[in-house]
Formats: sequence, structure tokens, C-alpha cells
Amino acid sequence: MGAQSEQSELAEHTPSSDFAKEIAAEPGGEGINKCIQCGICTASCAISSFTDRYRPRQLIQKIIIGKREEVIQSDLPWLCMTCRMCEARCQEDVSPAEIFKAVRHIAAREGHIPEVFISIVEKVLSDGWMLGDSYSDFIEDDREDLGLDTDLGWDKEFAHRVKERYFSGGETS
Ligand code: SF4
Ligand code: SF4
Repeated sequence: MGAQSEQSELAEHTPSSDFAKEIAAEPGGEGINKCIQCGICTASCAISSFTDRYRPRQLIQKIIIGKREEVIQSDLPWLCMTCRMCEARCQEDVSPAEIFKAVRHIAAREGHIPEVFISIVEKVLSDGWMLGDSYSDFIEDDREDLGLDTDLGWDKEFAHRVKERYFSGGETS
């Protein structure tokens, strides 16, 4: 293959939208340039088999053609559970999981985080975990049935350290 044909093949695989370039510049988003829209990722994705709303190939297509606001404001990039099955099967060495992580980074910086994720973080920061009242309803009963100590002496130290380390800008000891 000559240099000219190699260059033209590269050009065919290089998305031109500003949004695609923005994603390519974000850590993890570089693979956007190699996607050929074959759809193997969608066919491999457990979330896609669960809901028609989630299609990795289609989401990547929207990035390639520059639908920035639609993608950034969507909850779809947050539905990826990072199982990386798509990455393992992609013949072009693209990781949709990494691309969607790059999208989430940009979305988070611009304040577009789905409410459910915010509420989960707030729950962990206030209670130390996300299960809330289910502790007493389930876990405590299970521990009692198993003959385990039900008084775990939870003092929220973990939540305190997470707050200090990641939300207050300080280091913990
Ligand atoms: S990410 Fe890979 S598997 Fe998915 S459409 Fe692009 S080239 Fe195909
Ligand atoms: S990493 Fe995300 S997009 Fe890929 S198969 Fe898993 S859930 Fe689907």
C-alpha cells in the first residue's frame, strides 16, 4: 500500500466534527478516530440487550457527526457499566467504554450528571454507603440469622475520609 492510499484510508477513519476531536483529545477518547461503525459493540453489549435506548454504536455515531449537546446532556453515556465486552470484541481496537468515560468527564465538568448518580454519592457521603435503611431491614437481620454481631459500631469515618480526600481538597491521614 502506497503512502498516498494509506493517507486516504486514514482520512476516511478520521472523524471531522469538533465534538469528535474534543473526545479524541480527552484521555480514553482517542479510539473515536478508529471506529468504522460496524455495530459489533452494540451486538455484544448487555445493556443494549436490556434496553432499546442504549446503543453504543449509535452513541459513537452521534459523537462522530457532532451532536455534542445531545450526547453531553444525555443519560446514555452513564448507562455503560464498563464491562468492556465491546472493547474485547471490537475488531478496530476501539473501547466504547473508554469513549463514554471521556464523554462523562466532559459532561461532569459542565454539570450534566444524572440526578440518580448525584443522589447515590450524597447518600454514601451522608451514611457511608448507598443502601440506607436497608441496613436495618436486611443486613442486620441476615447478620443476626448467621449469628454475627449486628452492632458494627459504624462511626462514618469512611465517609468522613472520602469527603476530606475528594470533596474538600484536603488529604487524610
Ligand atoms: S466501536 Fe468498534 S465494534 Fe463498535 S461500531 Fe466502532 S468499530 Fe465497530
Ligand atoms: S463496556 Fe459499556 S458499552 Fe461496552 S459492552 Fe459493556 S456496558 Fe456495553
